[in-house]
Amino acid sequence: MLGVLTKKERDWVESVIKDEEIVKYMENGRDFIDDDDIWERLQRNTKPDKNRIRDIIQKSLEIQTLEPDETASLLNIEDPDTWHEIFQVAKEIKRKVYDNRIVTFAPLYCGDLCVNNCLYCGFRRENVVIKRRRLGLDEIRKEAEVLAGEIGHKRLIVVYGEHPSTDAGYIADTIRTIYDVKVKTKNGYGQIRRVNVNIAPMSVDDLRLLRDVGIGTYQVFQETYHHGTYKRLHPEGTLKSHYQWRLYCHHRALEAGVDDVAIGALFGLYDWRFEVMGLLYHARDLERQFGIGPHTISFPRLEPAANTPFIQATNYRVSDEDFKKIIAVIRLSVPYTGMILTAREPASIRREVLPIGITQTDASTKIGIGAYSDRYTDQEEDRQQFLLGDTRSLDEVIRELAQMGYITSFCTAGYRCGRTGDRIMTLLRTGREAVFCKLNAVLTFREWLDDFASPETKAAGEQVLKKEIEEIKDKLPQNVYEKLLEYYRRIEDGERDLYF
Ligand code: SAM
Ligand code: SF4
Repeated sequence: MLGVLTKKERDWVESVIKDEEIVKYMENGRDFIDDDDIWERLQRNTKPDKNRIRDIIQKSLEIQTLEPDETASLLNIEDPDTWHEIFQVAKEIKRKVYDNRIVTFAPLYCGDLCVNNCLYCGFRRENVVIKRRRLGLDEIRKEAEVLAGEIGHKRLIVVYGEHPSTDAGYIADTIRTIYDVKVKTKNGYGQIRRVNVNIAPMSVDDLRLLRDVGIGTYQVFQETYHHGTYKRLHPEGTLKSHYQWRLYCHHRALEAGVDDVAIGALFGLYDWRFEVMGLLYHARDLERQFGIGPHTISFPRLEPAANTPFIQATNYRVSDEDFKKIIAVIRLSVPYTGMILTAREPASIRREVLPIGITQTDASTKIGIGAYSDRYTDQEEDRQQFLLGDTRSLDEVIRELAQMGYITSFCTAGYRCGRTGDRIMTLLRTGREAVFCKLNAVLTFREWLDDFASPETKAAGEQVLKKEIEEIKDKLPQNVYEKLLEYYRRIEDGERDLYF
């Protein structure tokens, strides 16, 4: 019967949630999202005057996390001129903390079996039109070889449904397999140097296992912060229906020694202003309990998925105009955080919103199970979680970014020399991370242009590199500048993975 779990699945589902790993983080038995309080703040902070907005802007420019009432004030702005000013400030903060760098990555879907029934997702277990499978380790290797050896990605985010066949043990095996891949390229070799995960909430023990195989960022989206909506969209009895098990999974990850955690909300499930407040409260609670906020925040919009009528029926679809406001308000509210824009969005929107705060984006994206090595070019509804808005290649995206004045960074050095967690927070807040990142962006971009770029992209990229190197010259001590030039030459001669 549809939706009914096998005994094995049922036993597994019953073993996952550990109440003691939730309650220890709660206060007086309550989580940190108070729905009524959020609505009250949104209603209390309407019609903010110019002075108040000016003070808030000042605080954001000092790279301080905002108070809930301050974010509520921004969300209530009505005047188009003030919004215009907010977009400009968002741009300025992005430049101040991350300069003109954009990091690129690709998602790698490893399995679409799922015990849950999230109403908005193509992978929900009751959806019979989806072809279900998990990739074997040989297939994972092939996927990684295409991504690292042909396209030139250095960072992946691996994605799975929630299922006993793709549990922490399997996830650990897939990550080891990916890190193991090394492919000869035109001038050097290609390798995935950072594997982030977008997976279900896990126990501290499982998270330790993942930490030990070297996961990068642990990313989980709360989907909606509104308790009632969460309950409605994640049917009772499913593993995912436990709101707090999900809400505190990043706390558990930090407890387990995973340094970087990433939060997000799926926009289109509930009121967007409420969700932005939820993200802020989430960031603030992580800061309060661990001194570390989210490494990144994601704000995906709901996309169509095969046989998933909820998506057409939602009352909370987010317009392009409001999407831009969401991005700007997050940028001002949690100014140090990375912000991820995905290929769910069409190219025209990506172009428009990129400058107001985005730090990471994916390209050459395929989300069908096994789609990279199968060389599927079209999207395939029956093996995708949802449909993408932008399927341009990494080469095309990088060319466009270069033409817009951005340098694509493939740097993963920060993580490998311990610039993570609370150390990265301090570096970001003070703007010092920018120095290392700039140098490493130059070196890794050079590598990529030599190994993977088309002639047009190489030409556009080299113009950016020339400008960058000239700009850095005056800002660096002479010996560091000389070292940069030396590394640069060695990379041109075929050496790889040199970093500061
Ligand atoms: N299954 C795990 C989970 O739910 O946590 C792993 C992540 S799931 C495969 C990836 C994310 O895709 C979800 O957290 C959700 O926010 C997003 N998603 C689901 N359905 C979507 C849709 N129709 N459009 C856009 N994003 C969607
Ligand atoms: Fe499963 Fe995740 Fe989709 Fe929910 S969002 S049905 S948990 S894959």
